[in-house]
Amino acid sequence: MSNQPIDPPKTLPQPPLAYLEAELAELHARHLYRPLRVMQSAQGPEVILDGHRVISLSSNDYLGLTHDPRLREAAIRAVRDYGAGSGAVRTIAGTMELHMELEAELARFKGVEAVLTFQSGFTANTGVIPAITDERDLIVSDALNHASIIDGMRLSKAPRKIYPHRDVAALRDILRTAVERGREDPGHEGEPYRSILVVTDGVFSMDGDIAPLPEIVEAAEEVGAAVMVDDAHASGVLGRNGRGTIDHFGLHGRVAIQIGTLSKAVGVLGGYVAGSATLVDYLTQRARPFLFSTSHPPAVVAACLEAIRIFQEEPERIERLWTNTRRFKAELRRLGFDTGISETPITPIMLGESALAIRFSDRLFEEGVYATSVVYPTVALDKARIRTIVTAAHTDEQLEIALEAFTRVGRELGVIGG
Ligand SMILES: *Cc1c(COP(=O)(O)O)cnc(C)c1O
Repeated sequence: MSNQPIDPPKTLPQPPLAYLEAELAELHARHLYRPLRVMQSAQGPEVILDGHRVISLSSNDYLGLTHDPRLREAAIRAVRDYGAGSGAVRTIAGTMELHMELEAELARFKGVEAVLTFQSGFTANTGVIPAITDERDLIVSDALNHASIIDGMRLSKAPRKIYPHRDVAALRDILRTAVERGREDPGHEGEPYRSILVVTDGVFSMDGDIAPLPEIVEAAEEVGAAVMVDDAHASGVLGRNGRGTIDHFGLHGRVAIQIGTLSKAVGVLGGYVAGSATLVDYLTQRARPFLFSTSHPPAVVAACLEAIRIFQEEPERIERLWTNTRRFKAELRRLGFDTGISETPITPIMLGESALAIRFSDRLFEEGVYATSVVYPTVALDKARIRTIVTAAHTDEQLEIALEAFTRVGRELGVIGG
């Protein structure tokens, strides 16, 4: 150790990270700050949140499986048999037979050659997109695609073009131009793209509308482009036994890449990509979250397997989900609320201003109903809303109570008349 005095540090104009306080203050001032509410119960149609028992319209637990006794039991059994954690990434020592079984089961369910699972739907998108595209390719993406698709594109070296939400004519224009003019990057101008990838959500997570997949697939086929559909909100909701939008529209074999989540209707956690055996084989070599992040613990995988079995054996759950959805939407409209363009159980109540949406949600909570506000940057600044998802697990009585709360708060805040 030397006794030399050290130079006093050169100081920054402000202490490290001090700017975060200003950024937070700005979020509060603009009514864009989202406090966390804490749940003291299991997930479900009724939960205890911040100490209050409320009817929840805010989970993605479409089929009520998060708390299903059979999933709990499957998870407990897997912990007993295989332990708490997998202990490694898939490519080293973290592939258990349970992982292989889930992938085989999902491939059968989706009617594809192969499936690869990821830690979440988010990592599926951020893993797959940069693995299969580079500067020789073009990605064409819907303007309202999920954040994980956007981040996946940011991680890719491929250029990207965005088409206005669900605008197939604009998509066609982009595709034709791309094929006619070729690459735009310096040194390669005019060379044909190696491939073009059209990517869209199957069901859009904030508006609940469905992608016009038959037209998108047709437009892509005209130029030989590949289609990638993220069915996070369609799995367990649309198609036979909840097989998703490809099944809903009868497009089997015409969508090269399907992304799914195990965190919504499946009720557990995880994501997957479904497609050809070659695609999956390639991803096992190149998808970075698969290569560099530990695989699911046994309990997660076993519970997912149980959920997929229930999808197939209890289609009445999906029927109940749709009965509840139709009833809830019809009642909200009858009361005078603007429910936007939703065609699925995701039902927004459009309010416009962030401050109004936050106030509306807070008042609903006081009335015993948990329905979150969704504000910028999740949606456009002037498109703030309450977002609801009814599930198969909600009873008629719970929906009735929720609708009464919406009526009281809607009148009080001048959103509806009467
Ligand atoms: C929720 C969602 C995801 C992320 O799925 P997780 O499994 O929760 O990570 C990805 N894409 C879309 C369209 C989603 O709605």
